[in-house]
Amino acid sequence: MLEGRRLDQVEIEDPRLTRPFDPVEVAAELRGERVRTVDRRGKYLVVRFESGRALLVHLRMTGSLRDSSLEGDPHRRALLTLDNGSSVAYKDVRRFGTWLLLEPGELDPYLGARLGEEPLVAAFTAKGLGERLEGRRAPLKAALLDQRTLAGLGNIYVDEALWDARLHPLRPAGSLDRDELRRLHRAIRKALELGIARQGSTLSTYRLPDGSSGSMQKEFKAYGRLDEPCDRCGAPLAKIRVGGRGTWFCPSCQQI
Ligand SMILES: [Zn+2]
Repeated sequence: MLEGRRLDQVEIEDPRLTRPFDPVEVAAELRGERVRTVDRRGKYLVVRFESGRALLVHLRMTGSLRDSSLEGDPHRRALLTLDNGSSVAYKDVRRFGTWLLLEPGELDPYLGARLGEEPLVAAFTAKGLGERLEGRRAPLKAALLDQRTLAGLGNIYVDEALWDARLHPLRPAGSLDRDELRRLHRAIRKALELGIARQGSTLSTYRLPDGSSGSMQKEFKAYGRLDEPCDRCGAPLAKIRVGGRGTWFCPSCQQI
């Protein structure tokens, strides 16, 4: 919906989106830019312009771009009007998402400093995962959510992967043996591939980072299923908080 289009009008309706920069100034800078590509890097949506600049959208929990003006929607934070007359709205219920306009040449160093290894690239191995977790005493769940460990692993994916690998979310991250690492590695790939397959190829699917919508919800094994029977052993699933995030797991087959 954005590729190849020029931004004719940009209205940033929530100053938090561009903080610390003035939303009016950022909107003025964006006006007239033509979009070359849109792609995803971890939890970021990267909009590259023909000018060489880039808009880095950090979606956080609930941010998403929609192929509509979302007129009257109280959660709309910005509105783009394109040169073909169509509108794209940015919606963010919890308002944690951010927009950052980067000048040519700034994007790669910026992302390089913030993203860990991309989980889906061929270079992501069980051994590499082990090296990133080695010596860490943080709970496994918290270490996996840390974007410096792995880019793009959201709360849902971590719960699903830990369930699949039969690992307790509170296990010290550095305590996994080789077999456990191999299971975890396989489970992470599986969770991500499943999630990504469901996303399809349009931007409207980017509302998914924390599972607020999308067909994957029906397929969750752990996430959001408090007291429901575990698909593997039948025990009721439990919920705890780890690093401030709701965490669902099976106390019977994910023992610490
Ligand atoms: Zn179980």
